[in-house]
Amino acid sequence: MPMSAHSPAAIVRVALDVPLDRLFDYIAPVALPTDIGRRVQVPFGTRQLVGVILQITDHSDLPSHRLKSVGAIDRETPPLPGDLLTLLAFCARYYHHPVGEVVLGVLPTSWRQSHVTVARPGYRLTAAGRAVALDTLPTNATVQRQVLQKLQTVEWLSPAHSREISPHAAAALKVLVRRSWVVPCMAPPPHLPAASLAVPLLNADQQQAVAAMLAKPAVFAPWLLHGITGSGKTEVYLRLIDAVVANGGQVLVLAPEINLTPQLESRFRHRFPQLTLVTLHSALTDSERLRAWQAARDGDADIVLGTRLAVFTPMPRLQHIIVDEEHDASYKQQEGLRYSARDVAVFRAKQQNIPVVLGSATPSLESYHNTLTGRYQRVTLGTRAVTNAHLPDVHLIDSRRYRPDHGLSAPLLAALGARLARGEQSLLFLNRRGYAPVLMCRVCGWLSTCSRCSGRLVLHLRQQALCCHHCGHEAHVPAVCPDCGKGDLVAVGHGTQRIEERLAEHFPAARILRIDRDSTRRKHAMGELLARAHRQEVDILVGTQMLAKGHDFDNLTLVGVIDPDGALYSADFRAAERLFAQLMQVAGRAGRREIRGEVLIQTAFPGHPLYLALRRHDYTAFAEALLAEREQTGFPPFCHQALLRAEAHQRDKVLDFLMVAADTARCFGGPVTVYDPVVATMQRIAGKERAQLLVQSDSRRALHALLGRWMVALRALNSRRVRWSLDVDPLEW
Ligand code: ADP
Ligand code: ZN
Ligand code: ZN
Repeated sequence: MPMSAHSPAAIVRVALDVPLDRLFDYIAPVALPTDIGRRVQVPFGTRQLVGVILQITDHSDLPSHRLKSVGAIDRETPPLPGDLLTLLAFCARYYHHPVGEVVLGVLPTSWRQSHVTVARPGYRLTAAGRAVALDTLPTNATVQRQVLQKLQTVEWLSPAHSREISPHAAAALKVLVRRSWVVPCMAPPPHLPAASLAVPLLNADQQQAVAAMLAKPAVFAPWLLHGITGSGKTEVYLRLIDAVVANGGQVLVLAPEINLTPQLESRFRHRFPQLTLVTLHSALTDSERLRAWQAARDGDADIVLGTRLAVFTPMPRLQHIIVDEEHDASYKQQEGLRYSARDVAVFRAKQQNIPVVLGSATPSLESYHNTLTGRYQRVTLGTRAVTNAHLPDVHLIDSRRYRPDHGLSAPLLAALGARLARGEQSLLFLNRRGYAPVLMCRVCGWLSTCSRCSGRLVLHLRQQALCCHHCGHEAHVPAVCPDCGKGDLVAVGHGTQRIEERLAEHFPAARILRIDRDSTRRKHAMGELLARAHRQEVDILVGTQMLAKGHDFDNLTLVGVIDPDGALYSADFRAAERLFAQLMQVAGRAGRREIRGEVLIQTAFPGHPLYLALRRHDYTAFAEALLAEREQTGFPPFCHQALLRAEAHQRDKVLDFLMVAADTARCFGGPVTVYDPVVATMQRIAGKERAQLLVQSDSRRALHALLGRWMVALRALNSRRVRWSLDVDPLEW
């Protein structure tokens, strides 16, 4: 075949944010190897899309007349670094997700749009810069002198500010940066009280942990830092960060939830006022996010602290990764690319050949199992770090004997009363927000259910509304029963609002504060409420799991847990593991200082092994019992799973699709079990019928080989009416 006379200069292969698992070829008049990782604008159908160049080649499988040309290549901004692209390609393969969605999904939002905005950094003085005597500068360096002078008074010079000094300030700043007198820096350093810089002496466990983790040369090494609540894991992180940054490295620290980042951030900033720290989480504006991301990518940030998505932040000097509360299910993204940020952190550490530390008081069974098989190394912190602080006493209140009155049993009320009398704080934990989980008609038995979901509508008295916690649907509270027309409606069960109301009746003088998703909706609300608790303006905190993790209240000596039994006999095989972790966490809020804490759990099953293990604070025994059970029944971590989820308006369509999918998978053979499709636990959400299909294997390799072929086949089915997605290593059912 004759060569085309119009043979193009180069073909670039571009990742685009479309649900097709392939790259798209375009002609580029000039393409250099350094263009890999750069953003590019391309025509796609009738649209213009922003993509990322992943490969450059000299031929395409498409005939040349069908190839379109690229629009602009963004050569202003640095390309995505190769190591990040490798990680993203790995994730696309591992999660069997379209590569373009993976790559574009990690970019700051404004970068995914065709308009380019480049955030410019501000500047601050280094110690050397502060020591410069202005009169030693050459006489013609007027602007440099002006800039230095200004910096000595303002701490941080914003980009706008520097332009005000002189139009030539940018050039002067470049020179000053070269002389190491000034460094680019994205935001002004926060003001810090000097007293907080005291560094505690490590206790023996901490010392051992730090020594072990720093002893080896910095190569890939996954560590599980298993430390009881209050054992000083954060102090261990601080020492690791210190050592890594002193060595010229950047550290990536992941926290499971946005609510936990402010306190870590404040501890890091207090300890390292001289370092640049950026945070990355969903509450940032696009431009804040972009600035933080650029500071990380340019190596200006020493510490990157963020939630899930931050695991994909480009960091040229990355030398260490820390995953705090590694067991937390929030690390798993539940839509789109369903990745586990914890697992990606381990992949990334392996790829970069650096250490990664997974910290928890209640490690996930997966991570714990990995220490038993020797894949991870384990270090343990067995005592509370504050002198004379001990783990709290855990007592069980048998709710069959002490019938709770609207959720509160007599022994629990008595314990609360005693704390109030002594001026100590209490926390009541109840994982159910709203006033009552359902409204019922006493005459005909009608229950408030959501018209769009298979769930109940939760009564929220304050808003006078019935709310669906699955689809967000809201309805008025009916005055009479919609079915029988009688007025005998009752709120059944109790949520945080009702407990708050009952407490106020029992303890009219007490200052009660509820912390849940409803009371913290406003921006900064969570921080303000927590600050009140820290200032001792609160006697009793009532809250959901938002309050259970990580927070450190000095004067809190009682934790009450209301109604945790639901998870004990759940169909989800992970429910017990999750409940145990949650209760260990919330119990860990009590008695973090000298006064011994107490935890009271109201349960109808006081003899359940989970509660007995909790009373002894015995994670290890409980974890090993669960692992033995999982091994016997062949559940993870003793096998590998993937879940094909599907939804559509009609249930038949969903099940038909999954039947075909199951048959297809079975045809591939291999040591993989393909189960039958089943409807999801929540059968219907927002009018969509949901079902799922589980595939599992003892061999990860065999499972992934099947998944690869399966996805190609399912995409070819082109089942328009059914939305489906694959969840590799699923956590929720
Ligand atoms: P964890 O993260 O394991 O729950 P933290 O790191 O929050 O524990 O530590 C609990 C408390 O103990 C904090 O107030 C911390 O300042 C303090 N602490 C940690 N290490 C030490 C130490 N070596 N000596 C004294 N206090 C410490
Ligand atoms: Zn009725
Ligand atoms: Zn609903």
